[in-house]
Amino acid sequence: MPRVTYEPVIGLEVHCRLLTDSKAFSSDSARFGAGPNVHVDPVSLGHPGTLPVLNRRMVDYTLRMGLATHCRIAPRSVLARKHYFYPDLPKGYQISQYETPICAGGHVDIVLQEKDAPPVTRRIGLTRIHMEEDAGRSIHDQDPYDTLLDYNRCGTPLIEIVSEPDLRSPREAYLYMRKIRQIVRYLGISDGNMEEGSLRCDANVSIRPQGSKKLCERTEIKNMNSFRNVERALDYEIGRQIRLVQGGGKVVRQTLLWDADRQETRPMRSKEEAHDYRYFPDPDLAPVFVTDEELGRIRAELPEMPEARSARFRDAWGLPAYDAAILTEERELADYFEETLTALGAEGSGKETNGPAKSVSNMIMGDVLRVLKETATSVDELPIRPPRLAALVRLRLEDRISSTAAQEIFEAMLQREDAPEAIAEEQDLIQVSDIGSLAPVVESVLDDHPQQVAAYLGGKEGLIGYFIGQAMRRFEGSPDPKLVRKLLVEGLETRRE
Ligand code: ADP
Ligand code: MG
Repeated sequence: MPRVTYEPVIGLEVHCRLLTDSKAFSSDSARFGAGPNVHVDPVSLGHPGTLPVLNRRMVDYTLRMGLATHCRIAPRSVLARKHYFYPDLPKGYQISQYETPICAGGHVDIVLQEKDAPPVTRRIGLTRIHMEEDAGRSIHDQDPYDTLLDYNRCGTPLIEIVSEPDLRSPREAYLYMRKIRQIVRYLGISDGNMEEGSLRCDANVSIRPQGSKKLCERTEIKNMNSFRNVERALDYEIGRQIRLVQGGGKVVRQTLLWDADRQETRPMRSKEEAHDYRYFPDPDLAPVFVTDEELGRIRAELPEMPEARSARFRDAWGLPAYDAAILTEERELADYFEETLTALGAEGSGKETNGPAKSVSNMIMGDVLRVLKETATSVDELPIRPPRLAALVRLRLEDRISSTAAQEIFEAMLQREDAPEAIAEEQDLIQVSDIGSLAPVVESVLDDHPQQVAAYLGGKEGLIGYFIGQAMRRFEGSPDPKLVRKLLVEGLETRRE
């Protein structure tokens, strides 16, 4: 009997913390990073008699996400109470959305790039995006206590983005998470930081015989706090399910925890222990209405999204797809690129690769990204702002400095605020390109090496490198090597009698 091959089916529930100043239903600060239990007003703690008030900016941010991911927006949606007991949830319920999420039926595209194959775009459906508040944080295993509670996070605004079971591999799940992060960062609604818990992911996964259309029993993995862990946990769990089924066993519905230290999933609870949340509309909160005017305003304010921007970088600036994709990965970097071009006074040329654009791109993809990586900073913190980078690129475009000199100057610009031209002059890096001062040096080199000149004229043309070296050495400052070569060749030809 042929062995059955299985395909994974994955759907992700992603929680994303919104960067609002105040909490979802109170004026308490929603900022991350304060000391424990600092932002804990009575509403956040759910004291009896307190009343929640909807933070309109949370709605605004959620709508940005919904529009950017092509969702239908509900003109009227409802906030519901989701009841459960946990020490980090002092109210005994979480305000969320249940039957009527504010956004539904959208999609995001991910691009699969297998080695030596053309890129493949895969469209991943979004079932829904809804608003909810976060719970507090339990910190376990702290001597001498078993568990500490920090309620700062209680009531901070989240969106939950639920995907269709459209993902077909751990790699796709990874790319999907990266895409969500890129979108929320472009929209400015979240920092998308997984390590700090701004993005959290529960992964639902099942397997089925390749080619089958039905959905089989799934498990849900929680507690993954990095993009790599999402991929690894899914890899592990898919392997576990396949071995189980091939051994004659059956996948049972359960919630699993990813143990990053041991690189394996562990059962947390099974279906029998599944919650009944007793959802009902929160009687303290009116339905959320979204008007067409509001939607129109938010749509008009949406930034140009990465795909559109990347396409424009290719079309208007003639950049290769590779450059355009890297430059638009982060909105700040794309801004930096365009501001540098503006400072250069460059204009998009259309089809052909545009010289200034490609030069700026090279400088950013090389030196700028290297420095950002080395110093683990964002481009906004780079001491070289676009006008200064533009001035450096201009020196290079005008052939006034060599590419090695450009790198040296770039390094110096990181340390000091001077204009690149000043640094170039001070360090003698401006290429001497006036023939008047170069010609005598070239002549003296040729006069001093009659044997080599004869050999060259006799056919040993490789000696040109020798002459260039001699001339460069004799000259104070940085002669333009292209010009030196030209003058040497001319000088040599006049000696051919
Ligand atoms: P629940 O209400 O239990 O959270 P949902 O139907 O809302 O379940 O689905 C939650 C997530 O699980 C969604 O992302 C969905 O795509 C995914 N999912 C549902 N069924 C399967 C399945 N058989 N295999 C993999 N993922 C699934
Ligand atoms: Mg769910």
